[in-house]
Amino acid sequence: MRSKFCVLCWRPVSDYPQQPLRVSFFCIAHKASGDTRTTHQKHKRRLIKALEKKDIYVGNDQNKKNYYSFLSSQVLKLKGVPDDEFIRKASSQKSFNTLVKIILNKSKYYTKTYRKISVLSDLKLSNKENFTKAVMMVLDKEFNHERLSDIPFEIDNDKAWLKGLFEMLARHEVYMTVNRERVKGEGENKELRDRLAERINEMKQEKIEHINKRLASEFNLSEARISILHQQLIKENRV
Ligand SMILES: [Zn+2]
Repeated sequence: MRSKFCVLCWRPVSDYPQQPLRVSFFCIAHKASGDTRTTHQKHKRRLIKALEKKDIYVGNDQNKKNYYSFLSSQVLKLKGVPDDEFIRKASSQKSFNTLVKIILNKSKYYTKTYRKISVLSDLKLSNKENFTKAVMMVLDKEFNHERLSDIPFEIDNDKAWLKGLFEMLARHEVYMTVNRERVKGEGENKELRDRLAERINEMKQEKIEHINKRLASEFNLSEARISILHQQLIKENRV
């Protein structure tokens, strides 16, 4: 079965036609049409180079569909996912909080990615759907929180969910490493974060309740996104 992740990154591929076209292997940032052509070519070149360093060669002599499916499957050779034994043990956890702790404990393995998602340990995310959406939001600020269909793996089955989640984290880690992207952290959305910190401090002084809810409507962002940014500002002692 074809991966539901973009060949060149961790983002979901949103359309699955019966007869996959070239574009159906890529996310919106890598469609290779118009503005994304250069990015697509650059990221593909870098991925192929990274694979070749590991003596993995992706022959160009097959049809496009096989070529992209194969290229996508090789990404996980650059950064793997936890073995079945780990998945089995983790999925037998009764408590969701413990499960989240186990997931977040894999931080040494996906260092760049975990620098982004470690903020989630401070949030009370009560179920797989909320946790998955929060991870996707932290990894990609363009992610549309309202669309459950954007989650590129099964969430009803615990094992399938864990496998899908770790595959996404691994693909993100490969993307960040291959493209030498730095985790922006403090630099990300500097202006937005400055304005948010200012408003939160004002609201706290005025003893306003339900801060996140009010900020969400003021800044026209989802409450979940505000909550993540708020937690980051608390960690940085800015609010
Ligand atoms: Zn992509």
